[in-house]
Amino acid sequence: MSIIVKNLTHIYHPSTPLETVALKDVNLRTEKGQWLSIVGHTGSGKSTLAQYLNALLVPEAGRGEVSVENYLSRPGSSQLRSIRHTVGLVFQYPEQQLFAETVFEEVAFAPRNWGVAEKDLEEVVKGALREVGLSESFLDRNPFQLSGGEKRRIALASVLAANPAYLVLDEPTAGLDATGRKDLVKLLLSQKAKGRGIVFVTHDLEIALTASDSILVLEGGKEVVQGDPEKIVQALSQNPVRGLCLPDVLELAVLLEQGGWKVPLTWNQRKLFQSIVKRVRKS
Ligand code: ADP
Repeated sequence: MSIIVKNLTHIYHPSTPLETVALKDVNLRTEKGQWLSIVGHTGSGKSTLAQYLNALLVPEAGRGEVSVENYLSRPGSSQLRSIRHTVGLVFQYPEQQLFAETVFEEVAFAPRNWGVAEKDLEEVVKGALREVGLSESFLDRNPFQLSGGEKRRIALASVLAANPAYLVLDEPTAGLDATGRKDLVKLLLSQKAKGRGIVFVTHDLEIALTASDSILVLEGGKEVVQGDPEKIVQALSQNPVRGLCLPDVLELAVLLEQGGWKVPLTWNQRKLFQSIVKRVRKS
């Protein structure tokens, strides 16, 4: 059971002067319990692809295929509802998602929509808040009056409350400080450990390399490379992608290697440091 995308092409405003090819023949596959990152510079097609994964966008005839746990995404298909239930999409900015006057109503919306009985809603909502590390004291608060980090957690809780098999997050670290980013990654790793599939859309290669089982790198709507973090590091250190920065530590490792030092191509500071120390001690 997986999410499978085959030869997906998306064109905004086709046959007009505004025509933009946002995705061109993109393929991917990911499973429950796996973390896939979709990485690329602004405008590379990441958000467009994310919207296909929960059937916010649906492939037109001849423009490729998207299937989720064997539900096929087709215009007008009755399976679109099942796809939207199976894959939860967390938008880039919580403000795009939040609408209710209280946290309770916000987080209760999706499970109510998917048929959870009123008498069970409170427990479901409290459970979702617990999963994102927020206490019950938030239930009566106005989501729009919370801090940026709290809003983001509420947006995530409101998706988790529907218990989706996959979580797709569009640039979820935008605007978070270093601690906020670390906390979010930890939270998502714990969701992955519970068996959820994580699809993480980002321009932050370092987080992708650290947390992912596999990574798809996009540029101009096309796949540049796809594979495990090791493969991505090899590919990007040989052929940099415009606008996609290598982590500083990795860039240093590449420079050392180009200078004739035998060091691992790593983005892990400690690993690189230990390898340099070992070399220096030997010489
Ligand atoms: P990313 O998420 O990587 O920034 P997007 O998927 O948002 O990339 O955009 C891919 C391309 O499609 C860009 O050239 C962007 O300008 C264009 N695009 C995105 N959304 C629309 C839209 N609603 N209408 C027209 N063009 C769009």
